[in-house]
Amino acid sequence: MQAVKYARAADIDDAIRLLAEGGDKARVLAGGTDLIVQARERKRDVDLFVDVKHVAEFMSLEYDDSSGLTVGAATPLYELYGDKTVQEKYPALVDASTVIGGKAIQGRASLGGNLGNSSPAGDSLPAMIALGGVATVAGPNGSREVSVAEFCTGPGRNVLEVGELIVSINFPAVSDSEGAAWQRFIPRNEMDIAVASAGTWIKLDGKVVADARIALGAVAATPLVATGAAEALIGNELTDEVIGNAGDAASSIASPITDMRGSIKQRTHLAKILTERTIRDALDRINS
Ligand SMILES: Cc1cc2nc3c(=O)[nH]c(=O)nc-3n(C[C@H](O)[C@H](O)[C@H](O)COP(=O)(O)OP(=O)(O)OC[C@H]3O[C@@H](n4cnc5c(N)ncnc54)[C@H](O)[C@@H]3O)c2cc1C
Repeated sequence: MQAVKYARAADIDDAIRLLAEGGDKARVLAGGTDLIVQARERKRDVDLFVDVKHVAEFMSLEYDDSSGLTVGAATPLYELYGDKTVQEKYPALVDASTVIGGKAIQGRASLGGNLGNSSPAGDSLPAMIALGGVATVAGPNGSREVSVAEFCTGPGRNVLEVGELIVSINFPAVSDSEGAAWQRFIPRNEMDIAVASAGTWIKLDGKVVADARIALGAVAATPLVATGAAEALIGNELTDEVIGNAGDAASSIASPITDMRGSIKQRTHLAKILTERTIRDALDRINS
């Protein structure tokens, strides 16, 4: 472990100041389930942890019918998936957050940390993209909004500039005609990194898909927005053929690597299968 200083931010401005002064070796500390491991293994050159967990905005969990769900960037996953409104209206977030690590990890880990870590295999990312998540980012030059879909720029890299941090992530309000789901494939039952994952959100008008978003994880250098897959659904009823077309469109944009967890062939196939399964799950959730 390298010697790392610790600072507890008093408020958002204090966090920005600490990060800006610390430069590129200062990192936000949320649950620490990635950061502390990476610092200990010297995978990240860090000399300052800026703890944001004592600032209310980072620990919030709020829903209202017009602005939707706002999740503080450091709100622990167990609070997120334990919330009745999240369970009822955003089950895709529950799908992903209940499989990240185990119970102990979920007691500390956060959506902001999963996003800030910017792994292409980060489990919550395709779910957040499918749900239309938008991060509120604060920094020395003020606040800006960045969609989760556009946040990651490469493995472990993202759009944040020095001094910037994610305050919260907002998800639009959902109606009864909308459904979403997320799934991953891992070779074990738990505590593994996704070989591939997919998140789907659909909105129906009667039986026809009025709108859709589909995202893939672990099949490219960043999570992917599967625009063609969503377009294959929009304007159509969800027949086996239409769902199959969406799956084909999803696998066509996958550009995975072969590693110890899976091959290019397997991951490309999984992009199709997981897309199809999450479309069916999302539909079942609207109908149930
Ligand atoms: C045993 C184990 C199992 C795991 N299993 C999974 C799994 O199944 N799926 C999965 O996706 N991940 C898994 N992880 C990784 C990790 O738990 C998740 O990525 C988690 O969501 C990170 O959240 P955190 O709050 O602990 O982030 P931290 O470790 O605190 O931070 C992670 C990164 O994000 C940055 N960051 C944190 N908050 C902010 C913010 N507000 N603004 C800007 N940057 C920020 C940090 O500086 C750091 O670079 C596992 C980790 C462990 C140790």
